[in-house]
Amino acid sequence: MSWQQRIESALAQQQEKDLFRRRQAYEHHQGREIQFAGRSYLNFSSNDYLGLSQHPALIAAWQQGAAQWGVGSTSSGHIIGYSQEHQQFEQELATWLGFDRALLFISGYSANQAVISALGQKSDLLVADKLCHISMLEAAMQSAAQLKRFQHNDISSLSRLLTARESGETLLMTEGIFSMDGDSAPLAALANQARQAGAWLMVDDAHGIGVMGDEGRGSCQVQQVKPDILVVTFGKAFGCSGAAVLCHDSTADYLLQYARHLIYSTMMPAAQVATLSTALQVIRQACHLRARLQNNIRHFCEGASALPFQRLPSNSAIQPLIIGENQVALTLAARLREQGIWLTAIRPPTVPQGSARLRITLSATHSNEDIERLLEALYGSAS
Ligand SMILES: *Cc1c(COP(=O)(O)O)cnc(C)c1O
Repeated sequence: MSWQQRIESALAQQQEKDLFRRRQAYEHHQGREIQFAGRSYLNFSSNDYLGLSQHPALIAAWQQGAAQWGVGSTSSGHIIGYSQEHQQFEQELATWLGFDRALLFISGYSANQAVISALGQKSDLLVADKLCHISMLEAAMQSAAQLKRFQHNDISSLSRLLTARESGETLLMTEGIFSMDGDSAPLAALANQARQAGAWLMVDDAHGIGVMGDEGRGSCQVQQVKPDILVVTFGKAFGCSGAAVLCHDSTADYLLQYARHLIYSTMMPAAQVATLSTALQVIRQACHLRARLQNNIRHFCEGASALPFQRLPSNSAIQPLIIGENQVALTLAARLREQGIWLTAIRPPTVPQGSARLRITLSATHSNEDIERLLEALYGSAS
C-alpha cells in the first residue's frame, strides 16, 4: 500500500464507523452565542466556564501586553523567552495555590507530557485512572516506566495496583474533575493511598481551577488535598490558553533541566502572560460568576431529571448525556442544531466504545432562559 492508499483507507474506515471528524468554522462568537453559516446558536460546547474569553479587562491586558512586549516571546524560556512578566505570574500562581513553584507551559497537553516524560524511568510505575486525559495516558504509554490503569474513581481497584515494590518510584495520576464525565476524583482517598504506597500524587485540574473552591483554587482546595504535582490549564475557566505545573522547588528545577517541552519550544508570549495575570485577578474575585454557574448547573440538573438518557453523577459544569451509538449521538446533535442549540457529539476514542455522548458544558454567561431553551430542545429531540 502506498502512503496515499493507506491514508484513504484509514479515512474510509473512520467514515464507516461514524467516527469521521471535521471542523466547522464559525463566523462570530460571543460567549453564549455562536454563529455558523449565517445562523446563530446557543453555545453549550465551550469550556469558557466563566465567560472570561470575552472579558474587557483581559482583552485590554492582551492589547497593552502586546504594546509593551511585542507579540512573540522570540525563543524558548531557556534562551531569552522568559520575561519579568513570566517570572511574576509564576510567583503569583505559586502563592495563590500554596506551592513552592509554578512553571508555565504553552498548553495542558505539553505540561502533562513534559512532567510524565521527565519523571518516568525504567523501574518506575505510573498508575492512572482509566479516564485520565489522553495527554497523560499517551505520555505514560511512551514512557520507559510501566503504566497501570485503575477503574474510574475506584479506590479498591487502585489499591490492588499499589502493591509493595522492590525498586522504582510510583506516580499516581488523576484529574480533579473528569473532562468527559464531569465527576470529581476522591482526592483525599487517593492522596491517602499514595501516602501509604510511598507514591507521588499528580492531579490535572483543568476543569476545576477557577471554577471550584475558595477564590477558584480548584478541586484540591475543595477537598483539602495538596498533591505533589498539580497541573492547571488556562484554556478553560481562564478563558485563554496555556498551563502551569505547580510543584516543589527541586521538582521545578528538575523540570527545567529535563522537560524537553520547555527547553526546545518557544515560550508563551509575554502579552498572553499579562492576560493570564489579569484573568487570575478576575478569577479570585469572581464569586458572583461561580455562583451564577452553580445556579445554572442546579437549574439544568433539576430540569434534566426526566430526560430519557443516561446521566452521570456530575455536579460540575460538564453534564454529559450518554447516548451509546455514534450514529445516534450524531443524529441527536444535528436535531438540536435545527433548534438552535450547539452541542458536539463526543465519540470514541475520546470516550470508551459504546458510550458516545452529548457533552453539555454550562457557563456563567448562560441565562435561566438559555437553560430552559436547552431543556426544551432536549426533551423535544428525545421523543
Ligand atoms: C483540556 C485538557 C487538557 C489539555 O489542555 P490544553 O491546554 O487544552 O492543551 C489536559 N487535561 C485535561 C483534563 C483537559 O481537560
